[in-house]
Amino acid sequence: MNDRLQPNDRLPQPAGSTVCRLLFSLAPCVVLMVLPVAGIAQTPAKAPPAHYVPAPAFDTASMDTSVNPCDDFYKFSCGNYAAHHPIPSDQAGVDQFYTLYNVDTQDLNGILTRYSAPNPDRTPNQQKIGDYYAACMNTALINQKGLTPIEPLLHQIDDVTKPGLPSLMGELQRDGVNVFLSFGEQQDFKDSSKQVAAVDQGGLGLPERDYYTRTGAKDQQIRAEYLQFVARMLTLGGESSADAQRDATNILAFETKLALASMTNTERRDPEAVYHPQPLATFEQSIAPMDFAPFLDAVHSPKIDSLINASPKFFPAMEAAIQSADMDTLRAYLRFHVLSSFASQLPQAIDDEDFNFYGHELRGIPAQRPRWKRCSSAVDGALGEALGQVYVEHYFAGDSKQKTLQMVHDIEAAMDQDIDTLDWMSPATKLLAKQKLHAVTDKIGYPDKWRDYSKLIVSPTEALGNDERATAFENDRELNKIGKPVDKNEWGMTPPTVNAYYDPSMNDINFPAGILQPPFYDPNAGLAVNYGHIGAVIGHELTHGFDDEGRKFDAKGDLSNWWTPSDAANFKARTSCVVKEYGSFVAVPGATAKDNVMVNGKLTLGEDTADNGGLVLAYIAYLDRARKEGIDIHKKIDGYTGPQRFYIAFAQNWCENSRPAAIRQQVLTDPHAPDHFRANGAIVNQPGFAAAFGCKKGSPMAPAQNCRVW
Ligand SMILES: [Zn+2]
Repeated sequence: MNDRLQPNDRLPQPAGSTVCRLLFSLAPCVVLMVLPVAGIAQTPAKAPPAHYVPAPAFDTASMDTSVNPCDDFYKFSCGNYAAHHPIPSDQAGVDQFYTLYNVDTQDLNGILTRYSAPNPDRTPNQQKIGDYYAACMNTALINQKGLTPIEPLLHQIDDVTKPGLPSLMGELQRDGVNVFLSFGEQQDFKDSSKQVAAVDQGGLGLPERDYYTRTGAKDQQIRAEYLQFVARMLTLGGESSADAQRDATNILAFETKLALASMTNTERRDPEAVYHPQPLATFEQSIAPMDFAPFLDAVHSPKIDSLINASPKFFPAMEAAIQSADMDTLRAYLRFHVLSSFASQLPQAIDDEDFNFYGHELRGIPAQRPRWKRCSSAVDGALGEALGQVYVEHYFAGDSKQKTLQMVHDIEAAMDQDIDTLDWMSPATKLLAKQKLHAVTDKIGYPDKWRDYSKLIVSPTEALGNDERATAFENDRELNKIGKPVDKNEWGMTPPTVNAYYDPSMNDINFPAGILQPPFYDPNAGLAVNYGHIGAVIGHELTHGFDDEGRKFDAKGDLSNWWTPSDAANFKARTSCVVKEYGSFVAVPGATAKDNVMVNGKLTLGEDTADNGGLVLAYIAYLDRARKEGIDIHKKIDGYTGPQRFYIAFAQNWCENSRPAAIRQQVLTDPHAPDHFRANGAIVNQPGFAAAFGCKKGSPMAPAQNCRVW
C-alpha cells in the first residue's frame, strides 16, 4: 500500500484505535514480499548522494515581512516559504516534517548501505537491517522473479470456496493483506490493564467509505479511475482484459456494499461508538453462516472467548455481501488486494500502476519516491527498533533527552497552572483533571528495552519474503499480547519517526528521536524558538489527553466519565466554537462556493483542540523558564523579541507548499487540518499573541470573539 496517506501502514493498527498523533506520517512505509532463489547475484545497494540539509530553526528567509502579522500571521511567518520550496516531483507537498523526513531517511540510508554489504562481522541485527535493505533495493531480481513470489497465494485464491474463505482471510491478514475486515489487539478501553482482541470494519481499496458514496464530478472521476486501475492490476496479474473489466466492475460494487455498512471517520471519533465488548459467540452469530474459527487459527490468534467489536453494523452486511457475491468476484477481489498490497516488491509495471492510482491520481504526485527512500522506510517499518538502535547512537547524542525532558516537565507544570485558572470548570473536575495530568508517562527518544527480532529470518535475496515474514512477525507479536499484562514501556512509533503521539489507554506522551531534531528541536536555537517549535508539539500531545476523545479516559487510561454534567456541557460549548472556526476554512477552492472543499471541523476537533491548548501551555512554560534562567525576553534577536520569536517558530512548524489533490485527500480522510490552517487557526485564539505583536483588538489575528478550551 505504497504512498497512501496512512500512518505506519505496515504495522497493524489496533481496531478502534484512538491513538492521537501529531500528524499522519508523510512517509508511508513500503510493503514488500518472495521465495528463495539460489544462485542469483546481488546488486550492491548504492547510497544516494547526500543532498538533504536540515531546515533552519528560525527561518527568516521564509517570512514575508511586508505582511502585517496582525492581518495574517501565517503569511507573515511563511509567506515566502512556497517560493523557496518548490514541491519535489516525488512528494505530495513540502513542509517541515517532510524536510526532516528526507534528512532522516538519508541518515538511515547511510546506515543501511553500510550494513547491506555481506560481512561476517555484522551483528545479527546489522545483518537483518542490511539484508532487508539489499533485497528491497534489488529491483533487477524482483523483476526477474515476476509473480513467482505470490504464486502460492494466487493458487490458494484460485482454489478457494466460500467455506474456505475465513481461513484464507486469516492467512492474508497475517501477511498484511487486509481483506473484508481487520482483526487485532488493543487495550480494553474500560479496563486498560487488559489486552483484548478487537475486530473492525475493513476491506476497502479506496481511502475511506465516503469515496464510494459521495456525489460530485470529482468523486465520480475517482471511482472511474479506480475501476480502470483495478482492471489494469488484474490484467497484470494474468487476466484477460475482458475478464478484468467485468471483475473490476463487480469489485467496485462489492466494496461499495462494505463501504455503505462502514462507520464514517467522524462517527469513529467517539470512543463509545467503537467499543462493543461481546462474547465471541455473539460476534460469530453476527457473521453466520461464516465460520470464524478457521480465521482465528489462520491469523494465529490465541484462544479467545470474547472480543471488542468496533463496528457492529458492518459484519452482518459484510457477510450478506459475501453470500450474494459469486466466487469469481470474490477471487478477483482477493487477487486485486494481494497485487496492490505487495506492489512495491513485485515487478515494476505493477509497482508503477499502484503508484499511478494511489500516489498520482489521488494525491497529485508526479513521480514515485526513489527506491532508496522507499526501502529505507520499509526497513524502518519492518525492523524499526533494530534500525532505530543504530540511529539513536549516531543521531540522538548528547543531552537531547535531558533537555527535552525538562521542556516536558515545564509544559506539564504549565498545564497544572492552567487548570487552576479555568473559569468554566468546577473544583471537583479540576481535581480529577490534575490527577490525570500527574499520571501521564513521558517517553522521550527511544524505548528503554529494545525489541527482540532474533526469530525473524531476513534474506538478502527475498524482498517479498522478507516483507511477508516481517508482517507476520509483527502480527504475531501483537496478537500474542492478548490476555497478557500491558507492557508500559512499549512504543507505538519507531525511534527515527518524525512524529509524536498521545495514547489515551496508556496515558502517555511519546516523542521519538526522529522529531527531536532541527527545526523542531535545535540545541543552538535558544529558548523562545525551541518552546515555539517542539514545546508546542509537546503541549499538543499533552492536550490530547484532554481533547474531545482524550477527556473521556481517566488517569488510569480507562474510558470512564470523570466530568460533572455541567463541566461536560461547558467543554462541549467551548469545543463547538472550535468546530465552527475550523469548519469555515476553505481547503481547496472550487469553481463555485458549493464546490469548495472545506475543512471538516468535526473530524479535526481533537487535533485543533490539541494545537490551541498546546500553544497556550508552551507559552506559559516558555515565560516561566525564561524567568527562572534570568533571560531577558524583550531583548531582540534578528529584530524580534522572545515572545515574537516564540510565535513565529510555532507558525513555522506549519509552513507548507502542497498539491491541491493531496490537500483534498487529507481533508476527506485525515483528522489533521492542512498545515497552514494549523498556524492561524490556533494563533487567533492565543491570549499572549496580540500583546507580543501589538495587534489591536478586532484585527484579523486578534478577533473580538475567539475560542478557548484549554
Ligand atoms: Zn495530534
